[in-house]
Amino acid sequence: MSVDKRARFIGREPMALLEDELRVRGFSEVALGYTEEQAISEAKRCLKCKNPKCQLGCPVNIDIKDFIALTAEGKFIEAYKKIKEKNSLPAVCGRVCPQEEQCEVECIVGLKGEPVAIGRLERFVSDYALTKEHKKIVCEVSAGKKVAVVGSGPAGLACAGELAKLCYDVTMYEAFHEPGGVLMYGIPEFRLPKGIVKEEVEFLKEAGVKIECNVIIGKTLTIDDLFEMGFEAVFLGTGAGLPYFLGLEGENLNGVYSANEFLTRVNLMRAYRFPEYKTPVYVGNHVAVIGAGNVAMDAARTARRLGATVHIIYRRSEEEMPARKEEIEHAKEEGIGFLTLANPMKVIGDEKGYVKEIVCQQMELGEPDESGRRRPQAIPGSEFTLPVDTLVVAVGQGPNPIVTQATPDLATNKWGNIIADEQTGATSIPGVYAGGDVVTGAATVIKAMGAGKIAAAGIHNYLTNK
Ligand SMILES: Cc1cc2nc3c(=O)[nH]c(=O)nc-3n(C[C@H](O)[C@H](O)[C@H](O)COP(=O)(O)OP(=O)(O)OC[C@H]3O[C@@H](n4cnc5c(N)ncnc54)[C@H](O)[C@@H]3O)c2cc1C
Ligand code: SF4
Repeated sequence: MSVDKRARFIGREPMALLEDELRVRGFSEVALGYTEEQAISEAKRCLKCKNPKCQLGCPVNIDIKDFIALTAEGKFIEAYKKIKEKNSLPAVCGRVCPQEEQCEVECIVGLKGEPVAIGRLERFVSDYALTKEHKKIVCEVSAGKKVAVVGSGPAGLACAGELAKLCYDVTMYEAFHEPGGVLMYGIPEFRLPKGIVKEEVEFLKEAGVKIECNVIIGKTLTIDDLFEMGFEAVFLGTGAGLPYFLGLEGENLNGVYSANEFLTRVNLMRAYRFPEYKTPVYVGNHVAVIGAGNVAMDAARTARRLGATVHIIYRRSEEEMPARKEEIEHAKEEGIGFLTLANPMKVIGDEKGYVKEIVCQQMELGEPDESGRRRPQAIPGSEFTLPVDTLVVAVGQGPNPIVTQATPDLATNKWGNIIADEQTGATSIPGVYAGGDVVTGAATVIKAMGAGKIAAAGIHNYLTNK
């Protein structure tokens, strides 16, 4: 077990990490969490501010000061319940939320040193509570009205959880054979153990939410079918699962994956345990991953665990990388190479149609573009070739179009995202609400959950006044 090296300089309780060598030999979780003593000690760093700025940075407005105060007193279950009032997936958020850009960036302690480790504390109390107890949400009076939730990612789970609290009769429809959305099929086990996601889903089931997997709304059933089946409102949280490609010559060769397919094969279909599980994944000795967001880091670190030498190819510099800093550091610790300021130009295959190399061009940074990031410019005559036998493209994803194509009255924007009211989640069809990545484009777990909660309130208001 090693200790997070950055913590030494900053005064917050360090979190134990799995040894670098052990990491790449399996899919065990890398960050090991706090002990009870560490959690109490870290919680005591909180200044209990009169105006806790941290809370302003939280998209679901968790009572951070109060849950930390309870943690400092060793009242872990009470702290968990305090978080649960606002956040239905705390064990997930404690692991994957970009706290460094949200609550922690606002923390007053951060002005003089490292902010209070709010995410790590959230994770600690949630893990503690998950091992101790599971409390059902008991409804005194059933609202009796049926609501369908389409998609079981963070947006759908949060919406269903809120509606269950309000005692609606909720059925969640999921296209895959397991619920959880990206939490199950995208984010790898070593960052978010699937047992944690299953526990959170179990909590919803105990609260009375029914989950129907292997149902594709727009194919198996339409939205009209749902209304005919007696549902009085529908929430669409179908995410952004449609991968983008770069349109490079040779991108259709064998051995080129979208990050989405690559991660789904490994995470959801457990390809790393083939033939025990039926879906294989082909990974050569040399893997290149194009892109530098969280998805690219997850794909690279996954390929590394499958035994490959891995390079990230990114056309800007490390400073502009959109992935969480922690993920970049972990990737480096695990031996992943970074080819920055390198722009992929074409993919070259062998005589059997398999990828064998990728041609890139060296870049330099020019003036900032409209996003504020410095624009990469090609250096003439700087082309170079990297031998690869597997290429993973991780340059973003768009909304899954199945529901929108099957529902012509559902208004979408030019990128195919469903248009939904920010305050209520209402779409162009009465009784149909939407939220999460399908509305905003690829974003974050907590933003999707926030949208699910808003839509649940919108649905409640709609059905109460109907
Ligand atoms: C690899 C990866 C790593 C990420 N890492 C992070 C991270 O570290 N931190 C972070 O905050 N965010 C991260 N994100 C982003 C985050 O996971 C998403 O923003 C979030 O999951 C969006 O939630 P959602 O509920 O809108 O959609 P999703 O999680 O995509 O869930 C949508 C669900 O709807 C189902 N569905 C789609 N169409 C239909 C249909 N027609 N009928 C029935 N079901 C359907 C899908 O199968 C899926 O299960 C990551 C994303 C990826 C892909
Ligand atoms: S801003 Fe920081 S110190 Fe203040 S209440 Fe929030 S976590 Fe505690």
